[in-house]
Amino acid sequence: MRDHVKLGAREGGDTIAAIATAVGGAVAVVRISGPCAAEIAGGVWQGREPLRQAPFRVLRLGRIVAAEGEVDERALAVFMPAPHSYTGEDMVELQCHGGALSARLVLLALLRGGARHAEPGEFTRRAFLNGKMDLTQAEAVADLIQAHSEAALRLANRQLHGLLGRQIDSIHDRLSDLLAEIEARLDFTEENLDWASREHLEQGFSECGAAMARLLASQHDGEVLRDGVRVVIAGPPNVGKSSLLNAILGRDRAIVTPIPGTTRDTLEEFVQIRGIPVRLTDTAGIRATDDVIEKNGVERAVATARSAHVVLWVFDASLPYEAQRRSENEQGDNVILVANKADLLRGEGAGLPSEVCRTCALTGDGLEGLYAALERAVWEASDHREADVAVSARHAALLHEAGPLVDDACRCALANAWELAAVSLRGAIWAIGQINGRTATPDVLDRIFARFCIGK
Ligand code: GDP
Repeated sequence: MRDHVKLGAREGGDTIAAIATAVGGAVAVVRISGPCAAEIAGGVWQGREPLRQAPFRVLRLGRIVAAEGEVDERALAVFMPAPHSYTGEDMVELQCHGGALSARLVLLALLRGGARHAEPGEFTRRAFLNGKMDLTQAEAVADLIQAHSEAALRLANRQLHGLLGRQIDSIHDRLSDLLAEIEARLDFTEENLDWASREHLEQGFSECGAAMARLLASQHDGEVLRDGVRVVIAGPPNVGKSSLLNAILGRDRAIVTPIPGTTRDTLEEFVQIRGIPVRLTDTAGIRATDDVIEKNGVERAVATARSAHVVLWVFDASLPYEAQRRSENEQGDNVILVANKADLLRGEGAGLPSEVCRTCALTGDGLEGLYAALERAVWEASDHREADVAVSARHAALLHEAGPLVDDACRCALANAWELAAVSLRGAIWAIGQINGRTATPDVLDRIFARFCIGK
């Protein structure tokens, strides 16, 4: 068990149980983990041999015997003794009939038998605390469940296999070696020991700094893959923004009317465009208005557009282009100009710059060109299509914290200020340790595992 993480009451080693599958499937899995898993499960399920008897990690057929409501159904059970289970504890998984009731009655029987209902992510939290995985791998379990695209799924799987964790471990170990080197100088100041050269120390610091900077550079990709690219559809009223949202989604999500100002709030939808997970938001038309509700919507639209990765600034292709250019919102590197209602264009659309995408939201014409422009805008910030590892906002915040401390420690060490160098270096190691969990505190774990679903 990880001794550096102070254990809360929750980590007291009791036996927990939860339904691990979503309602509605043909089969439901109920998970039990803890020292009394086999005994508690044995009070609810019975097979030819008791669960504690070998063979282990093998599915056995038996019956549910102790659930209320006359449940007398056949069910499969598997016993995985510690430490060779997901949590590292004794674990039992019961497979019973799907549907809302069956698994629920089994769970209630387990709770009556002495198990406690697991909190969200508690199985994975125990896996982490028992050293089955580091914190980056535990986070990858949640990413895996929440992945909105295949690219996000691949990223989560690589992280689950420890690709990011190993890089963090290596930085952590190198910083710890440097700290040992520095602390030795504090302890043996008088002695003429065989110290590492200044060049060696400097190289160590700079290699750690470079490794951290490389990881930080992957934050954009990480955000895009985990949370989706925030794409906002903005522009004046009645140019076809809601129609464009519907065309992209392929269904009628937004209300489309010929009356200007009908979208008074923002609508958000998740969609995959060319493999990129996109959080697409339709906003109220941006125009000067006296209507209080519409005004509110316009203000939110402007704020949403400001926080977006990419803005699709839509205008009416059939109206003179220059006359519609009157807002600072349509400027910026992250803005794609979209001339909608291109079907109403006569000729080539004189005055339209070549970089403007032309679409017809009614037929979907021009959407492929728009997607290509979006793809370019998203990946422009990174020099590769898909990163091996990509840090999350949490990891990036800690790397940002550690970076200046490493620089500081290097400066102090080169000036022979060993005491100060050690203080900075300890701070940096602490921050890096929060990424892989070596120094994670219970409240950090609480925040991370709150994202999980029950039963995971
Ligand atoms: P919004 O206020 O910008 O969200 O605009 P809407 O999507 O509500 O559309 C306003 C009007 O323009 C509706 O009558 C739509 O049917 C029409 N419209 C939207 N897109 C197109 C288009 O590409 N071509 C034509 N001809 N009409 C469109």
